[in-house]
Amino acid sequence: NTQRQMETIVLYPSPGRGHLISMVELGKLILNHHPSLSISIHILVTTPPIHLGSTAPYIASVSATIPSITFHHLPTPSPPLDPTSFPSLEALLFEHLNLTNPHVHNSLLSISQSSSPIRAFIIDVFCTTALKVSTSLHIPTYYFFTSSTSCLALFLYLQTIHKNTTKSFKDLNTTLLHIPGLPPIPASHMPEPTLDRTKESYSSFMDSSTNLPKSAGIIVNSFDSLEPRILEVVSDGLCVLDGPTSPIFCIGPLIASNNQSGGEVHQCLKWLDKQPSKSVVFLCFGSLGLFSKDQLKEIAVGLERSGQRFLWVVRSPPTQDQSKYFSPPPDPDLDSLLPDGFLDRTKERGLVVKQWAPQVAVLGHEAVAGFVTHCGWNSVLESVCAGVPMVAWPLYAEQRFNKIMLVEELKLALPMNEAEEGGLVC
Ligand code: UDP
Repeated sequence: NTQRQMETIVLYPSPGRGHLISMVELGKLILNHHPSLSISIHILVTTPPIHLGSTAPYIASVSATIPSITFHHLPTPSPPLDPTSFPSLEALLFEHLNLTNPHVHNSLLSISQSSSPIRAFIIDVFCTTALKVSTSLHIPTYYFFTSSTSCLALFLYLQTIHKNTTKSFKDLNTTLLHIPGLPPIPASHMPEPTLDRTKESYSSFMDSSTNLPKSAGIIVNSFDSLEPRILEVVSDGLCVLDGPTSPIFCIGPLIASNNQSGGEVHQCLKWLDKQPSKSVVFLCFGSLGLFSKDQLKEIAVGLERSGQRFLWVVRSPPTQDQSKYFSPPPDPDLDSLLPDGFLDRTKERGLVVKQWAPQVAVLGHEAVAGFVTHCGWNSVLESVCAGVPMVAWPLYAEQRFNKIMLVEELKLALPMNEAEEGGLVC
């Protein structure tokens, strides 16, 4: 009958559905891992100046089903940022999060006053500037690293590389970088926002690289047996420029539960029910993956010629209109984007879905035999957990690096080879 002490934990994901879902899963893990403790999880949510997928229904359903999780919507910085004046999504997000820090400060104060002292503040790598806010309030702060342990090694090692060369990765091009514990990485395969050292996003990631080892700990969405060698190297501090790193906690694989759409079974799952076991190749490219019209046609031709069953998530090509660059793509017009008669000729063995498919459920379906993926880390984990082999077709962020790890180190994927000029895959 001892009175249970309330533990307060605050999570701070970067904007976007994928990051929010991973953080909520982390919150659920913390709650389930300590059933004997009374824990309240608070999640700080910011509204970015661009559309990154609707989160309101998801937040409402989590709030309704898990009373120990409370969401706090932080005010939007004013005056609002103009997305078109930023060179990249990453630069925009870093600035948005930087300007949100005063609200983070107020929110941390009010949560600790209304609840109990904050036991841990867990932040996404994009939210790195919030570390100075929580440090000033003496709150132990941890990072939640939503990519692989290998990618963490690379981030930690950025400072060393920065010191050893004056050139940008994009100019070093095919030069191989030797990072402790990793296979040699061509400089051009480093995460996209770090390719040009004159850009703001490079400096922001350098800040993360400096801050990560100063935190109370780094929580990684990976697991020991997936990357055992690199985990040892990172934990030994071999990737950090000066001194030891903070403790590393591999708590993955954290995967979104597959019933987020609630209720209605997606039509593609009903279609998969009618396909033979292990017969379908699934093509899906993350929350932001887009292809040119030419590339969409080439994919269609390849699928048709292969004779394989397929389930393909298609989006409209990227817009050329700068003012709409950060807007969600409109629904694709399949008749104008795909070759004449393609849908009709392949209708017995293929299904094209517009915009979005319930990926976790699809990968877990008995009919699915292979996954053509952009190598986003959540997609990789979901595929590994479902036991589905991959074809690696990286598009943005740290995906080129993930491809190397998947193909060369983990041997979980075959590479997709792009043409030297223009990157077209034929
Ligand atoms: N996803 C999905 N359906 C889609 C596209 C993506 O369910 O049509 C989910 C996918 O299961 C994964 C997340 O969105 O959980 C994408 O995360 P990932 O890290 O793979 O890529 P990102 O979107 O961050 O590039």
